Amino acid sequence: MPKKIIIVGGNSGAVLAKTLNAKLPDAQITLINPRPYAVTLPTAPRMTVTPDNDLLDTGLIPFNKLFSNKNGTFVEGLVEIIKPNEKVVVLADGKEFPYDALVLAPGSVWEGPVNFPEDPKEVHAHVKSWRGQFEKAQRIVLVGGGAVGLEFAGEIKDTWPKKEVTIVHGDTQVLNSTYPAGFRKALADDLSKRGVNVVVNDYVDEIPAAGPATVTTRRGSTIEADLVVPTRGPRPRTEFVARSLGDTTLDQRKQIKVKPTLQLLDHPEIFAMGDVINYVEQKTAMKASAHGGVVAGNIVALFAGKSLKPYKGSVEMIVVTNGKSLFVSASFLAEYSPRQERRTRVHRDAMGHHLRSLVCAYDEVQDTHGWDDARVLWALIGFSLKRYEGLQPPKLGQA
Ligand SMILES: Cc1cc2nc3c(=O)[nH]c(=O)nc-3n(C[C@H](O)[C@H](O)[C@H](O)COP(=O)(O)OP(=O)(O)OC[C@H]3O[C@@H](n4cnc5c(N)ncnc54)[C@H](O)[C@@H]3O)c2cc1C
Repeated sequence: MPKKIIIVGGNSGAVLAKTLNAKLPDAQITLINPRPYAVTLPTAPRMTVTPDNDLLDTGLIPFNKLFSNKNGTFVEGLVEIIKPNEKVVVLADGKEFPYDALVLAPGSVWEGPVNFPEDPKEVHAHVKSWRGQFEKAQRIVLVGGGAVGLEFAGEIKDTWPKKEVTIVHGDTQVLNSTYPAGFRKALADDLSKRGVNVVVNDYVDEIPAAGPATVTTRRGSTIEADLVVPTRGPRPRTEFVARSLGDTTLDQRKQIKVKPTLQLLDHPEIFAMGDVINYVEQKTAMKASAHGGVVAGNIVALFAGKSLKPYKGSVEMIVVTNGKSLFVSASFLAEYSPRQERRTRVHRDAMGHHLRSLVCAYDEVQDTHGWDDARVLWALIGFSLKRYEGLQPPKLGQA
């Protein structure tokens, strides 16, 4: 009997499915995701602000060319329940799928424009509605000055330089303390130069309903807005995991507790990867992709009765765009310095300008609908980072 592998979640999970499809030709691989395509989240700030670059077409990468061997299947649906004793997952429509190995990659729940509907029929309307709201509003408040808020500000300013854009951020500087202070300052300065108002050390606790509103911050300031957009941090999409496997499967942040091998603590045949795991690191697509490498190898080892390998962490870095071409920075867990800044600019010139179009460009030669481009891009980032002196491995670890 061929071994059955079920993968829940089609973003980093889809890349894993593609890898296993090639690695384990005798296994049956099933990818389950509510939409028949991956939403490349790095494209979201431009996709939902403007029709430029047709990202609604190219940023949604379909699964119909994902598998090159016949042993891979895509199923459109949402997993509602995992039954670990019977080793089956049950979809919202009641269909059951048995597994020998199960991988959980359900990612994060975002808000506002990044909260893409699960029903594929609603995605285009969602994107177009946000484009309309951004176009109509003259005064826009972005709640959250992490990378997502900063990137939205850049896109809005690119399209409408005269709109009033304010970012309200709870920390003392934009982003968080993982990143060097100088780097955080440089990002805020770049936005200020474009007329973005960056308010730090303050919070917007309640997002007003659509339409003009006076926003009162926690410290008592008021900001007049035509549109208030939540761009704050996400939460893990793990309710169905707790419902199925018990609350103790998750930590206080609702992340899935994993062993270094990325197996669940009490279920050696269930793995988790991507944004949902409780490994202490910044949650990024690059990390999710690195988890996928470990999970793929460990599933092969599990089936072969060999020992499994641990995930040892990834380089901590970030690329933040400020509009289409103005600024892209990368940061490592090293001291920020003007010299590093120059290196960072090499990054920008090499790939920043084309980052979004590269991620989602169709691969004409391979005809793989962007999957190879996405993989090449992440490999390129990893490769070029390794060449920089001063690059430090993150001093982070298991929670
Ligand atoms: C605006 C924005 C920009 C970003 N830019 C970058 C960047 O430049 N570089 C970078 O490295 N990272 C970036 N990130 C972060 C990156 O997108 C995430 O870390 C990455 O997408 C996580 O991948 P994932 O597979 O864990 O989860 P997700 O990408 O969230 O995918 C999870 C998938 O699982 C599906 N799913 C959920 N529950 C179920 C279920 N029960 N059954 C079936 N399917 C389910 C979801 O619908 C979704 O399709 C960005 C994020 C955002 C929002």
